[in-house]
Amino acid sequence: LRGMMMDTPLNVSAAIEYGAEMHPDARIVSATIEGGIHRTTYAETAPRVAQLAHALKALGVREGDRIATLAWNGYRHFELYYAVGGIGAVCHTINPRLFPEQLVYIVNHAKDRVLFFDINLAPLVAKMRAHWPKDLVYVAMCDRAHLPTGEGLEGVLAYEDLLAGQPTSIAWPRIDENAAVSLCYTSGTTGEPKGALYSQRSVMLHALFTLTSGMPGLRTGQTILPVVPLFHVNAWGLPYTAPITGLNLIMPGVKLDGPNLWDLMETEQVFSSWGVPTVWMGLLQEIEKRGRKPAALGEVIIGGSAAPRAMIEAFETMGVSIVHGWGMTEMSPVGTLGILATKDRDKPLQERIDLKGRQGRRMFGVELKIVDEAGKHLPHDGEASGELFVRGPGIISGYYENPEASARAFDAEGWFGTGDVAKITPDGYLVIVDRTKDLVKSGGEWISSIDVENAAMGHPGIAACAVIGVPHPKWQERPLLVAVKAPGAEPTKAEVLATLEKAIAKWQLPDDVVFVDQLPLTATGKISKLTLRRQFADHALP
Ligand code: ADP
Repeated sequence: LRGMMMDTPLNVSAAIEYGAEMHPDARIVSATIEGGIHRTTYAETAPRVAQLAHALKALGVREGDRIATLAWNGYRHFELYYAVGGIGAVCHTINPRLFPEQLVYIVNHAKDRVLFFDINLAPLVAKMRAHWPKDLVYVAMCDRAHLPTGEGLEGVLAYEDLLAGQPTSIAWPRIDENAAVSLCYTSGTTGEPKGALYSQRSVMLHALFTLTSGMPGLRTGQTILPVVPLFHVNAWGLPYTAPITGLNLIMPGVKLDGPNLWDLMETEQVFSSWGVPTVWMGLLQEIEKRGRKPAALGEVIIGGSAAPRAMIEAFETMGVSIVHGWGMTEMSPVGTLGILATKDRDKPLQERIDLKGRQGRRMFGVELKIVDEAGKHLPHDGEASGELFVRGPGIISGYYENPEASARAFDAEGWFGTGDVAKITPDGYLVIVDRTKDLVKSGGEWISSIDVENAAMGHPGIAACAVIGVPHPKWQERPLLVAVKAPGAEPTKAEVLATLEKAIAKWQLPDDVVFVDQLPLTATGKISKLTLRRQFADHALP
């Protein structure tokens, strides 16, 4: 028996329409590439989105066409999300920090028709152009006065010229909710990048699911600064969540260092900010330098890599609540969020900090299971660890135009394999032990690089660190700690090992500690263990 309800598709166009109507004054504030701060509202944004949608149609863009963006967090990028998705085309966000060969691969693989780019990326576009499709249309995200020129930039259109003269309203088409709306390639640390192709339905459901977390930052009227880029998994869904909730969005542009973030958070009264741990290192150093946090900051969402306990403690003790989340590009991306279970909320601070070191509890709409090597379900007892699999309407069912990778990604029950090893506690907390490929395999036992890093970050003289396995004749692999000293500190290897001894078992202690000036980062701002493993492959352990 079928239900008798209207078959109204979940379309992203409804989100911007709703935001403009019900939260007209909510702000979008952008630190622009041209310089200075740009201010707008949802009410002022919707007409520009309509103009851009008309302009795209005038360029010949049709449903299903891929429209690429190569841009930082700013209002025009936000407009593109809605204009492209609203007419049923696919917003293909590209990470400008990818290697040139990856940029060549994904633009050609996606067969993009139009590419929008921020003007400070014009040199990159000029360099790449010869390797991209001949008929690709280029649009610089600026007005005519700022149009970049020079070799390789011939015929580039100006964004504001496209909008000018177009109607400021539009009757959005009704799009099949299972049609594609956006495309994001994983950074492909192994092999070619793989495309996650989100649907109108999946991004809207993901936005609604995140709202059920009860995160204080996601309440109407709150001000949020996504450091997580719009080019990385839809900035964790925030561009879709924000207009339906009525959030003020503060777009930081290209300068994501501690001082710039601190200033923007202070002047715009930012309550909540989202990003990867490496970004928060910079902000914490700035907070220490200035002797206080940005006044309104009350919540920081940390995801993408494990949040070290010392980082959680630093924020929590200054009154900033940490939400430690876990997810993947293939999951839209949020899987779990570190909102404590009701029973845990009044626990003493140190206990709450311990609980927040875990990766949170599953969001509604995401199912988790852990399995052993034979694929047998393992209990959620907080002890058993195994590969983590996920299922839900926000999780990919395959990779875009990539049958080989798609065939490997799912188990016999149709669940998606995350490549992470995890434990799940009886009360639903997820504990990520490690990425399968980052575990240190020592004499048949596994050492969690995350655990060792966490312990090392407890030493005040260490600002950042990573643990990798290096080849060992007897044990196969042994852990090496690669660390960056905190400003002004001079920790020694013996001191660091003494700190570690208090927190982890003796056989898990790194065989050596190497101090470096900085750690290599991936295109998404995480510490690149792949690069470190290459760099230290021949490191002679003492
Ligand atoms: P990329 O592979 O390009 O870095 P993703 O952002 O999709 O892109 O990476 C997802 C992976 O990041 C997860 O599978 C997991 O290994 C890791 N990860 C994400 N959040 C956390 C977290 N809170 N703790 C530990 N690992 C995390």
